[in-house]
Order: sequence, then C-alpha cells, then structure tokens
Amino acid sequence: MICHRQIGLEQRDGDDVGRDPRAMSADELKQLGHNRVSPLRALRLKCLDCCNESAQEVRLCTAVDCASWPFRLAKNPWLSPLSAEARAQKADLMRRNRVSALTTPDKNQVQIDASDFDRLGVPKDTAVDLPSSKLGVAEGGAS
Ligand code: SF4
Repeated sequence: MICHRQIGLEQRDGDDVGRDPRAMSADELKQLGHNRVSPLRALRLKCLDCCNESAQEVRLCTAVDCASWPFRLAKNPWLSPLSAEARAQKADLMRRNRVSALTTPDKNQVQIDASDFDRLGVPKDTAVDLPSSKLGVAEGGAS
C-alpha cells in the first residue's frame, strides 16, 4: 500500500505531476512502496500486474506490439547466449565473490563495486532467474 503518495509528486503549472525518479533518494522510493529490483524484474512485475498476477497469462500474452512483450519472462532476448567459456568464467567469478563475501563480511559497497565481478561488466542488476514453474513457461518449447 502506498502511504506517502505525495512524495512521488510535484507541482507543475498548478497540477500534480510525477517527480523525476533520478532525483529521488532510495528512501523516498521505498516510501512509495518500490523495492530495489532490476529493470527486467520490474517489467516482469508489471506484466504480472497486467495479467492479474497470472504467470500463465503473461506467458500466453498476445499483445506482441507491447514494448514489454519481449521481456515479459524476465529475460533479455536481445542478449546472445553466453559461450561455454564465458559461462565458466562467470561461474568462477561468482564463486570467488561468494567466498570473498564470506571471508570478508565487513566489505563496504565501494569494495563490492570494485570486485572482479563488476570489472568484467556483468550488470549489477541482472535479474534473478525464476524457475520455469514461476514464469509459466512450459518445459520443452514454445506454445
Ligand atoms: S507484454 Fe502483455 S502482459 Fe506484459 S504489459 Fe504488455 S500486454 Fe501486459
């Protein structure tokens, strides 16, 4: 529930308009009920909202001209699949970062941002993969 809706609005020519989120703090966004999610996750959530929370309906959506349509299953189809080598490299970096996080629990955000994971350009906001059952994706191919 949005308790502080006014935080997201500003006056323009006497009317309420939405504020620029780039000029808002994380606290202000949280007060509006937003959570820190990746853009892909936000698109997925919007699609679920559009389909009355039915993952199956999102999967079956026929609005192919909707800007969200290619992203509705929380994956970016424009990215080419990783090669086996790149996948292994990414897995190795994730394993090293996990070990690093466990052995240096007081790592600050600057140190985390400077980690190998970030230097290789892997986006920090990579969507968390959902199981196909959550995405309403049938195993074994498209409908
Ligand atoms: S892609 Fe389909 S489910 Fe997603 S917002 Fe557009 S119309 Fe709704």
